[in-house]
Amino acid sequence: MNTRAVKALAPGATIGILGGGQLGRMLALAAARLGLKCHILCPDPQSSAFEVVRRATVAAYTDNGALDRFARSVDAITYEFENVPADAARFLAARKPVLPDPAVLATTQDRLVEKTFISDLGIATAAFASAATREELDAAVAKIGRPAVLKTRRMGYDGKGQATIGDGTDLTKVWRDIGGHPAIVESFVPFEREISVVVARGGDGAVACFEVTENEHRDHILKVSRVPAAVSPVVAVEARRIAEAIAAAFDYVGVLAVEMFVVPDGAGHAVLVNEVAPRVHNSGHWTIDGASVSQFEQHIRAVAGWPLGKPVRYGRVEMINLIGAEVETYTQWLEVPGAAVHLYGKGAPRPRRKMGHVTRVFPEPAS
Ligand code: AMP
Repeated sequence: MNTRAVKALAPGATIGILGGGQLGRMLALAAARLGLKCHILCPDPQSSAFEVVRRATVAAYTDNGALDRFARSVDAITYEFENVPADAARFLAARKPVLPDPAVLATTQDRLVEKTFISDLGIATAAFASAATREELDAAVAKIGRPAVLKTRRMGYDGKGQATIGDGTDLTKVWRDIGGHPAIVESFVPFEREISVVVARGGDGAVACFEVTENEHRDHILKVSRVPAAVSPVVAVEARRIAEAIAAAFDYVGVLAVEMFVVPDGAGHAVLVNEVAPRVHNSGHWTIDGASVSQFEQHIRAVAGWPLGKPVRYGRVEMINLIGAEVETYTQWLEVPGAAVHLYGKGAPRPRRKMGHVTRVFPEPAS
C-alpha cells in the first residue's frame, strides 16, 4: 500500500501529515484551499501547524497506538521533515498510502548513502569519503585533502553537526565537536553561488519543476532566495535535469528539493549536488506569492493523486527569511508595498529559529 495513492482523493478527504512545523502549516493551508482536510501528528504540543488544521495529535513517532489511530483517521499520509523514524513510516505504510515512499527516507536520512546514490546516478557531488570512526577520519582527510567539511551522516541541518577542516584544524577536536558520530568528509567547494530546484512529480510520473532559485545563506541558514537565479541557460537546464533525474530514480511522488553548488569550470560552470530534501523546502516558499501554483499545492496535489499544476511565475521574486528576533521587523514589512508577510505563529523568537518570511514580487514587463 505504500507506493502511491490508488485512486485520486475527493475534496473532503483527509491527508495525514507527520510533523507540525511551518512546512506542515503551509501544506495544510494549501490543502484547505483545495477543499482537503489535514490531520497532523507531532510530538510537540506547541507545533505551529496545529493552529490551522482540523485535527492534531500530540504523540511520539514511536507510539504505535497513536500511529494506528492516526492512520485510521486519514486517507493518505505524507511528511514535512526527512527524519521521520523508519519504523514509524513502515508501520503507517502497512495501513495507508504513505507518499513519498518511505524508502526515500532511508537514502536521504544518511549523507553517505545519499551522496553515494547521487554519484551512482552519474551526477556530480563534492568528493566525499566515509569517516565512521576517529581513525577513519585521518584516512578520509588524507584522501579528500584540505580544506574539507566534516558532516555527521545523520540528523544534520542548517549547519548543525558540521565543521570546516582547514590547514591547522586539529582532527581530534573537530571529531569531538561534531559529537563523535559517524560522519563524512567532503571537499570544500569554492562555489560561485548556491542554487536549488524544487521539483514536483505526480503519481502518473508527470514532472513539473519550479525555476532555478538562487540561495544566500547566513551562518549556514537560508536567508534570501531569488528567482530567477543569475545562472546561464546551460546551468539552469542542467540543474533541472539533475532534479528530474533524482526524482525519477526515486520513483518519487510529491515535492522534492535539490540543493546545488555552481562552480566555475573552464569557460563555463559545473553543477554539484549538495543535498536532497524529500519534502517541500524553504527555498520554494517564494512560490506561494510568486507563482500561480505553490510548492505546497503541488505536493498536496501529488499526494491526493491529482494532476500537477503548471505554475506560472508572476515576476522576479525575492524571499527573505525572518530568523530569530528578526521576526520583530514584521511591523515594518507590513507597510512595504507589494510585500507578502508570513508569520509561523511560533511564539517567542529563539536564535536561529525560522519565525516567518517575506516575499516580494517585482512584475516583469511582458516579453
Ligand atoms: P548542508 O547542511 O549540507 O545543506 O550545508 C549547509 C551550508 O553549508 C550549505 O548551504 C553551504 O553554504 C555550506 N556547505 C555545505 N557543504 C559544503 C562544501 N562541501 N563546501 C562548501 N560549503 C559547503
